[in-house]
Parts: sequence; structure tokens; C-alpha cells
Amino acid sequence: MEMTDGTLDRIRESIAHAKKSDFYAGYFRGIEAGDIQSREDFEKLPFTGKDDLREAYPLGLLAVDDERIVRVHSSSGTTGTPVIIPYTQKDVDDWALMFSRCYQTAGVTAKDRVHITPGYGLWTAGIGFQLGAERLGAMTIPMGPGNTDKQLKMMEDLKSTVLCATSSYALLLAEEIERRRIRDRICLRKSLIGSERWGEKMRRRIAAELGVELYDIYGLTEIYGPGIGISCPHACGMHMWTDFLYYEIIDPHTGAAVGSGEIGELVITTLRKEGAPLIRYRTHDLTREIPGGCPCGSPFPRIDTLIGRSDDMVKVKGVMIYPGKIDEFLAAVPDVSSEYQIQIDHLNGRDILNLLFETPLCGAEERKNLEKIVEESFKERIGITPRPKAVGMGELPRSEKKSTRIFDNRY
Ligand code: ZN
Repeated sequence: MEMTDGTLDRIRESIAHAKKSDFYAGYFRGIEAGDIQSREDFEKLPFTGKDDLREAYPLGLLAVDDERIVRVHSSSGTTGTPVIIPYTQKDVDDWALMFSRCYQTAGVTAKDRVHITPGYGLWTAGIGFQLGAERLGAMTIPMGPGNTDKQLKMMEDLKSTVLCATSSYALLLAEEIERRRIRDRICLRKSLIGSERWGEKMRRRIAAELGVELYDIYGLTEIYGPGIGISCPHACGMHMWTDFLYYEIIDPHTGAAVGSGEIGELVITTLRKEGAPLIRYRTHDLTREIPGGCPCGSPFPRIDTLIGRSDDMVKVKGVMIYPGKIDEFLAAVPDVSSEYQIQIDHLNGRDILNLLFETPLCGAEERKNLEKIVEESFKERIGITPRPKAVGMGELPRSEKKSTRIFDNRY
């Protein structure tokens, strides 16, 4: 995003403040906030990664006296040590303000009844949805996850109008409502979905079965929690609350800024956070900046719907390949199923991308023709020539995780 003089001042204040924490005192030793006079200076600062935050466990990120801390949250670590983020009252208030803006952007008002299904606890999800809705003045129904019978009973009896959920839970509820034929007793009109990579197909199904408008809400525990950005009624990317944060989109391999509108990893610097400020934090979320203004007139810049995780991305002949891109490509080719496998090899000094895909076509000639079509359209859409191989339906191993369909054998 653009770096104005005002943003640069804020960044300097944030760096000076961060250095009060044990973690940044060590990490930024020899770096003074006053040294940062330009965007170029700022972009020379080292990134902060999740492993750095783990090393600061439990309270190494704390940048204020601990009597000012009113709460901690923790990000769900899949491996070992969790990350603890301390919040001052102002951090909690700022988060609530950003989140209430999200609801307003989605057209939710004080008259709405907000049904909250994400979990409560150390995780930031449920309580973030709650804070923002209360700040807006809406009636919150703090359900938390699980117990579908009770969810549907409350939804019906209390006439919930807004559903907050993950995409998979929203789909589960939609299917139950359909199965029980109770749709006419449900008053939902909007749904805020915690942003993750989810397909257009699933989106359409949830929207149709629940009869709601869908909004993507963005956030992560390390940076407040959900609610730091949301899509608007024009559904073309998520507006980010850039008065509270500065973001960059970088090439995950080189760390350099990508060109305008290009896909890369989202990196965030907090501008006003007191308890645990973060400078150049790598989110590992892949997205791109959407250039230009939004038809809704919002002054806040937009990032695109998340495309995947940078950890799942590989670079072949200078082209970024990630599961979301391949899914989208294959969905557009007739007679090709959504199951695929990519093997990247390095032979005789060249990178080779082998693309195995399933097809219901059985004839050798038919498959040869299909491979030719896939090869040409892959070249056109993705930018490199693959070696395609058609196999029968069910011949490729099934995997829960899309990322395990890309195998990089080069290193
Ligand atoms: Zn907009």
C-alpha cells in the first residue's frame, strides 16, 4: 500500500514503542526509529516471523508495564510452543472499533441479531465477533461452535439475522436447514465468514441455501484477531483498516515487494498497538493488492480474497504455482476432474513440471487430445509449459490437504 508521511510517522512511533519489549530490544539492536526516513529504509528492516514470536514465549512481546494488560490471546500453534499476545484496554477498544466497522461495511445495524458460532477462549475468533457487534449496538447471541440442534433452535426462536461462522460450519448449517426443511423459519440475511481459502462453488452453495449475502472477514490473532479487514457489498476484495495497520505484499522467496497488483505474501505492521506491536509480520497468506478505488467509495485500500498459504507455493521458471491457481485452472477445462498431482523435477539444468490429472475419458486417442488441450491452456493461463498426463478417475491418491498435491523434488 501507499506510504504517506503520516504512515511513516506512525511506523517510527511503532518501532520506538516495540523496542520497549524484550523481543524487539534484542531483534532491533542497533536500529533506531529515527533511522527510518523512507519506505526504502523501512523495507530494509528484518521481517518478524511466527517462530520469532514463539521464541518470545510467554511474554517477550510485552511493550508496556504489565499492569496495563487486560487480556491475553494465543494463536493456535500446530507445532509446539504457542504464541501469546497481550492486549491493553486500548488494544481491545481499537479492535472493537475495527470490527464494528466491518459490520457496518457489511450493512449490519443495531437492529440486527448476530449469531456467533466461532469458538471462545484463548483464540480470538468468537470474542472478536462479539466485541464488534456489541460496539455496534446489535444483539449478540454468543453460541460458540457445535450442537447443531441448539444452534438451529436459537436461530429460529431468536430470529438471528446475521451468521458469523467459518465456511465449513456455515455449509454444515446450510445443509441441516435444507435437510430439515426449516428455511422459511430462518431469518438470516447476511453471513460473515472468517477468511480462508474457499472455493467459489462452496460460496455459491452457502449463499443459495442460507439465502444470505456473504462477506469475507480477515484477521489473525497476532494482529488483534479477525476484523482488520472485510469485503464490501461489491464483493471485490477486502478493505483493510489502514489507519491501524500498514501492509506490504512481498515475494515469499526473495522478500522484495511485488509489482502493483501481483500476488505475494501479506506482511503487516501495526501502527497503534500497545501491548504487543509487530513490525513487518509475515502472515504467510497469499493475496494481491487490488489497484484503484472500490465502487463503494471507501477510502480504505483492498486486498484480494486469500488465494492460499505461501508455504504451499512453489516457483517454477520464475512463475508462482500454488494449489488455488491449479484448482481454478482445472475447473475451467472440460473432461478434467478436480483431482491432480504436480511433480516438479530438475533434469539437465531445467525445471520440469509434470501434471497428472484425472479424466473420465478412456480412449488412448481421446486422452492424447485432452493432454494437448491441457498443455496449451496451462501454458496460456499459468505461463509455463507442463508435461501433462491423463489418468483414470480414482487413480491418484486422495489427500485432505491441497498442498500435498504439489511435490517439489528439486532440492
Ligand atoms: Zn468496497
